Amino acid sequence: MTSLQDRAALVAAVAAQYTEQVDRDGRFPTEALRAMKEHRLLSAFIPKEFGGEGAALADIADVVSILSQSCGSTGMVYAMHQIKTSSLVTHGGASAWHRAFMERICDEQLLLGSATTEGGGIGGNLRNSICAVERKGERFSLEKVGALISYGIQSDAILITARSGPDAPPSDQVMAVFTKDQYTLEQTMKWDALGMRGTCSDGFTFRGEGDAAQIFPNDFGDIAAKSMLPICHILWSAVWYGVAYAAFARAQNFVRAEARRTPNVVPPGALRVAEAANMLQLMKSNTTAAIHRFEKAEQGGEDLGSVGFIVAMNNVKIGASRMACDVINHAMLITGINGYRNDTPYSVGRHMRDAMSAPIMISNDRIFGNMSNLLLMHRIEPSLVA
Ligand SMILES: Cc1cc2nc3c(=O)[nH]c(=O)nc-3n(C[C@H](O)[C@H](O)[C@H](O)COP(=O)(O)OP(=O)(O)OC[C@H]3O[C@@H](n4cnc5c(N)ncnc54)[C@H](O)[C@@H]3O)c2cc1C
Repeated sequence: MTSLQDRAALVAAVAAQYTEQVDRDGRFPTEALRAMKEHRLLSAFIPKEFGGEGAALADIADVVSILSQSCGSTGMVYAMHQIKTSSLVTHGGASAWHRAFMERICDEQLLLGSATTEGGGIGGNLRNSICAVERKGERFSLEKVGALISYGIQSDAILITARSGPDAPPSDQVMAVFTKDQYTLEQTMKWDALGMRGTCSDGFTFRGEGDAAQIFPNDFGDIAAKSMLPICHILWSAVWYGVAYAAFARAQNFVRAEARRTPNVVPPGALRVAEAANMLQLMKSNTTAAIHRFEKAEQGGEDLGSVGFIVAMNNVKIGASRMACDVINHAMLITGINGYRNDTPYSVGRHMRDAMSAPIMISNDRIFGNMSNLLLMHRIEPSLVA
């Protein structure tokens, strides 16, 4: 099999053909998903013993970035699928049901969706739920109202959070897998948003019933701290890096074309290209440093649940989400009217609209709020290398 990155480039080429249409019509990138399945990208993160490739997080992040350079929605769909897969990889090994499910993902190239958001004031407060699993013998059922589920209709399975039982407090949560044949989605909101339009993040009332074995053995707090939060922030950052890079490349092409037209004059946008390149490098360093830190922590170098680690992983999301908007804003200033229009090779409107979702996808203010509490007791490590 060719490398993951080579196969990602083939999928990205497909995504690029349809990205304008996906964005304009707010439709799911069906062709890109088909290509992902054909090139077996959906199972890349799953260990070899279950039929996957056992890819490193760095390689998965690179694939996310490659796809996002062509189509932000496609990159985000792939990132979200891999965030869900990471919970199975990290926490599913101890459960026969989850091990068998990983094999199914590989065999059938299943697409995984996520339902953490909930109505009733919960919103993006990941660590609280209103809905609860109801166990009856070996079976359980769950109803979640106000669930925002990207590509909910296209998902083959959904990983969903809930309280561990009807009497449990809001933060005593579990996560469960439901396969498509085990749930219904009653659509309550149609996704018609500024950007990331192809993610089709519709709102639903979710109702499902399954075997109790489908509930992860670990509590969700453990899953969130040890895999979901860091991997989510790393892979989202990879999406936004890819989107920002694509806008930057258009701006750089614009300035290079200007330079060819007037060989003896440095185009006015050249300085801003240099400035944007600097921000892009900071974005890249931010994400790659987080990948290295996560991988080191996973190997026992640092406590994944420590305050220092959580603060660092939250900062990755905040930094990348802010800087993506800054880079693309620069690209718009460089390209001027050509970037503002939707019909030129230098258009960056879609990139800007996609990137505007970054600071609000779990609101940066919410994350700052969580961190401000942690920083009352935690001292930031002064060493550059520790
Ligand atoms: C493209 C996209 C795809 C998504 N896909 C999914 C999905 O597949 N599954 C899923 O479950 N969810 C999904 N979501 C929803 C996402 O997870 C969040 O629920 C959503 O972004 C709302 O976040 P929020 O509640 O933090 O902020 P909002 O509801 O946007 O907050 C509203 C305002 O309140 C402020 N605010 C909110 N809370 C606080 C706080 N604690 N402290 C300070 N200020 C605060 C914010 O600054 C903001 O101005 C998606 C979102 C996007 C943009």
